[in-house]
Amino acid sequence: MKKVIFVLIDGLNAETAFRHMGFMEHLVEAHAASKYVVRSELPSVSRPLYEVLMTGTPVSVNRISSNETIRKSTQKNLFQMSADAGIATAAAAYYFFSELYLHAPFHPLTDRFHSDSASAIQNAMFYYDDSYPNSHLFLDADELIIRHHPGFILVHPMSVDYIGHQFGGGSGEYCKAAFNVDCILSRFLFKWIEEGYSVIITADHGMGKDGIHGGTSAEERMIPMYILSGQVDAADYSGQTVSQLHIAPLVCKLLGLPLSEHMIEPKIPGLHPAV
Ligand SMILES: [Zn+2]
Repeated sequence: MKKVIFVLIDGLNAETAFRHMGFMEHLVEAHAASKYVVRSELPSVSRPLYEVLMTGTPVSVNRISSNETIRKSTQKNLFQMSADAGIATAAAAYYFFSELYLHAPFHPLTDRFHSDSASAIQNAMFYYDDSYPNSHLFLDADELIIRHHPGFILVHPMSVDYIGHQFGGGSGEYCKAAFNVDCILSRFLFKWIEEGYSVIITADHGMGKDGIHGGTSAEERMIPMYILSGQVDAADYSGQTVSQLHIAPLVCKLLGLPLSEHMIEPKIPGLHPAV
């Protein structure tokens, strides 16, 4: 059974990841992970890009155009496609994911913990405070993995984005937040790999030096992606830029799912052809 853990580090730009995530960069140097630069879709804003990442469709198609577009997605998405194929799904994520793939609006009193085998995201722990610590978020995710053995799980820490808005994308605080995620990943990644997961680590958008994102600058748009998978030849491919529209279909390939009609054939250097 093919399994994927999708780590979405909110607001992490490529430059900061490549300079400060020493554990991830070690895995690349040791030929245990592959590394890419991804160009985000526009606008470089969270909710639209969550939908891009989960559906492989641009905003012009999915119409999730802003953080204020509070409604359920109408697109075929990785959670529903997995669940339909009998792959168990889970998420430890910001509440926007509950609104996009379960129901909107989100109510903290009833929606923070979710368990329903008939829904697209079958088991989830959602947070709604942007300062929710990574230490707790990764333990939430690991608990979901231990308890439910999902074949597809989203792990979505917010702290890099939260710190970036306060101190700016080039700040020492922002760099330290990226290093903090790297440290936490170093505690979980070997275990997850041993359990048979492919792991994708990427971001939705980056962060400008002025502490904002939404536009077209490299700091806002160019984001990292690392892949640890037996289905991808580990190497440094960061000299090329990957379109963010290729990530959802990449997940389908890693899970052995057919692409939706709106997804494009993923062009990911190192990805083995389907067998
Ligand atoms: Zn943000």
